[in-house]
Amino acid sequence: MLINTRNILLEARQNQYAIPQPNIWDINSIKAALKASVEVKSPVIIGLAQSHLEYMGIEEAAILVNFYGKKFNAEYALHLDHGNDYQTIIKAIKYGFTSVMIDASTLPYDENVYLVKEIVKVAHACDVTVEAELGHVGSDNPNSEIMKNFQSVLTEPDEAEDFVKQTNVDSLAVAIGTVHGKYRGKPNIDLDRLEKIAKKVSIPLVLHGGSGTGEDMLKKCIELGISKINICTDLMVAAKNAIKETMNSTDNFGDINLTAEEAIKKCLIKYYRTFDCINRI
Ligand SMILES: [Zn+2]
Repeated sequence: MLINTRNILLEARQNQYAIPQPNIWDINSIKAALKASVEVKSPVIIGLAQSHLEYMGIEEAAILVNFYGKKFNAEYALHLDHGNDYQTIIKAIKYGFTSVMIDASTLPYDENVYLVKEIVKVAHACDVTVEAELGHVGSDNPNSEIMKNFQSVLTEPDEAEDFVKQTNVDSLAVAIGTVHGKYRGKPNIDLDRLEKIAKKVSIPLVLHGGSGTGEDMLKKCIELGISKINICTDLMVAAKNAIKETMNSTDNFGDINLTAEEAIKKCLIKYYRTFDCINRI
């Protein structure tokens, strides 16, 4: 069944587990994500990133995810990840996405608040849930502007409290030291900051850049209020390695695709276990 993220994330926050948001980019990743969730009897938030629209478009993803979601009898939300302009977000809502992220985190605070408010108004009128980001999740490029001032872009707890009050957003992505892509060196996650944010903000908190953060650290983040964790890089690497391993032993590209799907599914199920998101339907 296609659902939005409101109730599943509130339940996750109350019961201290997290729901994974695997990113999808092709049919293998869609099937793998839905099958993994059915296997562990828990919901899944299927994420299509705006930066991946050249791999798969909004309309295409909506049709395929709904087709396989119904076929496998999954409980799934269809989420636009890192939406960064009004048009794309409205298009996602129009084609039946049940959840959208508006990422205005690089803009000044007041502009971030303004944009999120605007999106929340439209989205809630369509029963679509909204995620926003405050502070800025890191990048795997050490020369990027974000990484030059990494401490200064972490989420401020007082600001988070004010942001949620003003915007009425449903979930909040926080910047506590994770990075998108691969870590260079050891992850340095600010758990004290997360604890302070969670005390001031009662809505579900979201962690981006889950790949490579480490099982123990992710568990600690979940204990402290993280209810949704985005996984992209590890799934892509799992698919790539599976394809690399099998491509020399067969010319049957159909079989190679199947091994990619299986590898993504396996990798995601591992995360479901780490997140304690088993039998949650
Ligand atoms: Zn992200």
